[in-house]
Amino acid sequence: MPVVHVDPAYTSQECCECGHTDRKNRPDQATFTCTSCGFAEHADVNAGRTIAKRGAAVRAVSHAADDAA
Ligand SMILES: [Zn+2]
Repeated sequence: MPVVHVDPAYTSQECCECGHTDRKNRPDQATFTCTSCGFAEHADVNAGRTIAKRGAAVRAVSHAADDAA
């Protein structure tokens, strides 16, 4: 059973829509506003989507490896 490790570093500053990471994306604790694409969401919601997206990408790679074996 592979362990899916998702690095939480910078997820609070990373846009779940375009991946742009910038401290300026967080004007305050509760707010996320992407300075690149303009995506705006509650900071916790954005971070959760970013983490989910990373986890999905890891699983996709894992499945590709299974198919090849
Ligand atoms: Zn963005």
